[in-house]
Amino acid sequence: MQYTKLGNTDILVSKLCYGSLTLGPLQKNLPLKDGAAVIEKAVDLGVNFIDTADLYGTYPYIREVLKTHKDLIVASKSYAYDTETASETLERALRETGRDYIDIFLLHEQEGPLTLKGHREALEYFIARKQEGIIRAVGISTHHTAAVKAAALMSEVDIIHPILNYKGLGIVDGTRQEMEEAIKLAYECGKGIYIMKALGGGHLIADIRQAFDYILSFPYAHSIAVGMQRIEEVYANVSYFESGTIPNNLQAALESYDRKLFIQDWCIGCGKCVERCSQGALSIDSEGQAFVMQDKCLLCGYCGSVCDQLAIKVI
Ligand code: SF4
Ligand code: SF4
Repeated sequence: MQYTKLGNTDILVSKLCYGSLTLGPLQKNLPLKDGAAVIEKAVDLGVNFIDTADLYGTYPYIREVLKTHKDLIVASKSYAYDTETASETLERALRETGRDYIDIFLLHEQEGPLTLKGHREALEYFIARKQEGIIRAVGISTHHTAAVKAAALMSEVDIIHPILNYKGLGIVDGTRQEMEEAIKLAYECGKGIYIMKALGGGHLIADIRQAFDYILSFPYAHSIAVGMQRIEEVYANVSYFESGTIPNNLQAALESYDRKLFIQDWCIGCGKCVERCSQGALSIDSEGQAFVMQDKCLLCGYCGSVCDQLAIKVI
């Protein structure tokens, strides 16, 4: 496994970052021991970096793994916009991971200069905690080229977690080429870059070699977060990151795994999920229930977090 410092920080991370969203209640919702075992397998194979978020509900798995792998690099994210909400989300991360510091804390889903301005108070709070040693690095996650470009020029931002994949899936305000240019700018400004959705949330698994070849040859990324739910996925991804190959039996296991978003028939058509989805993948159909356009859906599961009826599942 290759290890690189995240931009101008002193945080040394593996090229493969464990994307933990897929384990938790927004997706597979694995039992605690099972989820922790998948992460532990990745760590045993050289992955030292895990991505989570306040929203994901995956701190308990990480807490289990931290009991034996104390130096695992943990990145989390928060929707906080002021001191109070920033403090709440940071305290929750510390309490639920069982550690007195967190390596990386990001403003979640930033869209551009305006949202960065709107979350300024929270960012100031996280920067102050960084000065106290409670956070090692701060930054943003984003699906928008405008946010990457804006954060690239902010000296107080250490890390950017942008979306990128060879089909340009999920980039809200531009093309793949425009996102590549924005990330290049940020990289050259010394930002630590770790990419999300290199496999398009699962849509590109059938083209996994092409998807990984593209992202692994992209020269402006220090690490790449990939969601994993099963031990086979861990073996396959580590194998590709280390040798550029995936054993045929593992590839077959991956391709047989067809993840989809399901709307249950007790949906009441309130529309909250439609508003929440930044990809425009949801609408209300003529029967008055939510309907998903699978080709637009990135399987992030964020819509499920706003459904009071628990009618959305990514399986
Ligand atoms: S939030 Fe839940 S109940 Fe409301 S429309 Fe979406 S799936 Fe249906
Ligand atoms: S429909 Fe839900 S899971 Fe799919 S992209 Fe939108 S928010 Fe994410």
